[in-house]
Amino acid sequence: MIKKITIGDVEIYRIVEMEGPILGVFELFPDATEDIIKNHQRWMVPRFYEPDSKLLRIAIQGFLLKTPRHTILVDTCSGALKKRKRPIFNMQNWPWLETLSASGVLPQGIDTVVCTHLNVDHVGWNTVWREDHWQPTFPNAQYIISKSDYQYWDQLAGQNHLPRTGDYIEDSVHPVYDSGKLELVDDNHIIEESIRLESIPGHSPGQVAVHINSKGEKAVIGSDVIHHPLQCLYPEWSTNFCVDKTKSRKTRREFLEKYADSDILCLPSHFPSPTAVFFERNGSLFNFRYKGDTESIIPKDSFMI
Ligand SMILES: [Zn+2]
Repeated sequence: MIKKITIGDVEIYRIVEMEGPILGVFELFPDATEDIIKNHQRWMVPRFYEPDSKLLRIAIQGFLLKTPRHTILVDTCSGALKKRKRPIFNMQNWPWLETLSASGVLPQGIDTVVCTHLNVDHVGWNTVWREDHWQPTFPNAQYIISKSDYQYWDQLAGQNHLPRTGDYIEDSVHPVYDSGKLELVDDNHIIEESIRLESIPGHSPGQVAVHINSKGEKAVIGSDVIHHPLQCLYPEWSTNFCVDKTKSRKTRREFLEKYADSDILCLPSHFPSPTAVFFERNGSLFNFRYKGDTESIIPKDSFMI
């Protein structure tokens, strides 16, 4: 069994597809410099950064939410046997469904799939190749996607971004639409009383956070509002993959301001294991500690650099 996080009546399981040095720091952050990265290596290595390859350690994962009423999967990672430009995603076949099964749920047991936004690492397992075509992996699930995100990625503006990754909309989103299992919703859609979506636009136009609120306990899945712990020190850093860098910057600061020093557990999707953190304020910047830890991750004097 994999470890669960309990928020009131809701159980949260992290369903990790892969974790490790995956993204080039200068590829992700156009504002990063060699000096900045060098200055922060002492707390980033080895947990958050691999200096030899200059790759940031991140997790690619989804989240299973078991509520008394629903079995919900939030994000479906990169998927199996899909043609992609990036080798780490190309024709891979990670045992992700086995990891899901280890949480006690089979694909047919999922009743709701939420894609927080339509990027290649959040939609992959939406479909699997069966009987000569891509079919929904979760046969009994309603798939929920923000209407504004769908419209963006389905149209020319979004399609123009696809050559860099491979056309994942065609193999991982359109087949769900064609099957009639896709529901396009408002960015602030409510799934049930304890699970609601909130618009956090910028990285993707219709990106949503998923709030879990049960019996007075609260958590939020932050999707890609913040990719990496380094952005606690540089919250103004948007990524090269943000559709609207200015909006992404504003949303990230609002997110961090809102949750820092609160008792709301945050799950930024790409933060390395164990992912669940409490953000903390440090002047106009931020720090964080992992759930269950008493020590903050970023050393105090790193804020003076
Ligand atoms: Zn992502």
